[in-house]
Amino acid sequence: MSELHKFLFDGLPVRGMIVRLTDAWQEILARRASNTSTGAYAPPVAELLGEMTAAATLMQANIKFNGALILQIFGDGPVKVAVAEARPDLGVRATAKVIGELPPDARLPDMVNVGNKGRCAITLDPKDKQPGQQAYQGVVPLFGDHGEKLGKLSEVLQHYMLQSEQLDTTLVLAADANVAAGLLIQRLPVKGEGNLEGSAPADRDQANEDQIGRNEDYNRISILASSLTRDELLTLDVETILRRLFWEEKLLRFEPQAGMLGPHFACTCGRERVANMIRGLGIEEAEGILAERGDIEVGCDFCGKQYRFDAVDAAQIFTAPGDQMPGTAVVQ
Ligand SMILES: [Zn+2]
Repeated sequence: MSELHKFLFDGLPVRGMIVRLTDAWQEILARRASNTSTGAYAPPVAELLGEMTAAATLMQANIKFNGALILQIFGDGPVKVAVAEARPDLGVRATAKVIGELPPDARLPDMVNVGNKGRCAITLDPKDKQPGQQAYQGVVPLFGDHGEKLGKLSEVLQHYMLQSEQLDTTLVLAADANVAAGLLIQRLPVKGEGNLEGSAPADRDQANEDQIGRNEDYNRISILASSLTRDELLTLDVETILRRLFWEEKLLRFEPQAGMLGPHFACTCGRERVANMIRGLGIEEAEGILAERGDIEVGCDFCGKQYRFDAVDAAQIFTAPGDQMPGTAVVQ
């Protein structure tokens, strides 16, 4: 069963989280594999998408955002786009669009950053949007401070977290055909400490920024976390991982989130959304498809569900409510 574990390091400004997606991740892979037009993901793409799904879950649980957290990579290689989304109830879904062949041992740059033009976007899409309210989006490149291509998704995201939240973050991510997992360690912002009590927010922010890369406790725990291997993360249970890494630290554990309260596969597609998409195509385009094929069929990239609209359904899409015949009484 997929699970999320949160913990604190007692008395230290450091917190952590481990996610293990098993059934949720297998469901995403199985749905893709049963899609006859795409077939299953090649192993390197599955690995990337699994890491993205684990990371999106960790980031959502970390900030507790009331809306969808969408992690996207826009690639300049064979993987054109990869998307992982995590919602506040830890419902997750993911998909990738791959064009062309990729080597079996393809790494991140081979898939999405061939010409160093790939980028990663993190979008926070509020659940109950006010009129005119926009989703927040942060975009980071897939290269480091000196233009060097980054080899791991975790490095890209650590960079993003440092930029956006001004907090040191350590991420270890891994995925295969059965498990997508991640460990996140983050330094908590300094607050409530005696020397900062009553200080102005600006001073506090400054004090926090001054701590970047300098907190000894965080640095020690980060080094321990980084020693976790891909194999360990994929095969060991959470208890064993925590014991092996942090046996000298005092952990405060929260109740693990599993089952329906934990990470699970969920798709938010629906007929109304597809209808809006068809409306977006325009009436001419839609009529063209109808003339050619008899109906409009749209499949959801995330879950594979097929939506079918015949000529009558399509006519309704392009009929604004006010244009509909109000009933026989007034049709004279
Ligand atoms: Zn769907």
